[in-house]
Amino acid sequence: MLVSAQEMLQKAKAGHYAVGQFNINNLEWTKAALSAAEELRSPIILGVSEGAGKYMTGYKTVAAMVKAMIGELNITVPVALHLDHGSYEGCKKCIEAGFSSIMFDGSHLPIEENVEKTTELVAICREKGMSLEAEVGSIGGEEDGVVGMGECADPQECKRIADLGVSMLAAGIGNIHGVYPENWPGLRFDVLADIQKLTGELPLVLHGGTGIPDDMIKQAISLGVSKINVNTECQIVFAQATREYIEAGKDQQGKGFDPRKLLLPGTEAIKEKVKEKMEIFGSVGKA
Ligand SMILES: [Zn+2]
Repeated sequence: MLVSAQEMLQKAKAGHYAVGQFNINNLEWTKAALSAAEELRSPIILGVSEGAGKYMTGYKTVAAMVKAMIGELNITVPVALHLDHGSYEGCKKCIEAGFSSIMFDGSHLPIEENVEKTTELVAICREKGMSLEAEVGSIGGEEDGVVGMGECADPQECKRIADLGVSMLAAGIGNIHGVYPENWPGLRFDVLADIQKLTGELPLVLHGGTGIPDDMIKQAISLGVSKINVNTECQIVFAQATREYIEAGKDQQGKGFDPRKLLLPGTEAIKEKVKEKMEIFGSVGKA
């Protein structure tokens, strides 16, 4: 069933594990992620960026597909449908479309404006029983054409946003979106510890989960991270499996060109990747 991410993340924080947010791009992605969650009895957050929402023809299409698929596939684990890096306007659209969770990314705004808009959205989400993720300190790398600087969040600003009543907080701690460069110095656990000290029980979110070594992921979870976003990694394994299928000439054998056959290796690769991540995050059997 579609639920807010609030309860699943509070449980994760208390239980010292993390729930994965897996970004979806189409029907195959959604099916792979939901099936993985059900098989491993794990809660799951399906992330939708504004770009992916547009690609899938709009948030209403996405919400209708996800809700219907939960029913048709008999998915019984908690599923949250979450807008990833939403603008103020995008958040409003997703609230209307029936999402169960939104992220308002006001990290590029002056702190006063971030506070003002986050406050307004907190009130709406509370009324609707939805969860809200806020962001302080931009997260580096490239996402939907938006390039961040990879700074670390100011713990005092984190506390200020946390105190507005958000459900979860994303804070830059040296993490970046996409593939990490060779010379990446690693996560700033000192900054994470300072943020955690000031924000207490609030679940913290780690963006840019692709390529962070497993031991760093586990340390981050021990320091209060309860939601980890995975996007690029699923895209890479999907592309790789599809390329292998084509390069092996399988699309030219029999009816190998049938999209249901052509897209199957990639879909299975996503499912395996999601399962692998759930094991690392510790969310298996927590549904
Ligand atoms: Zn992100």
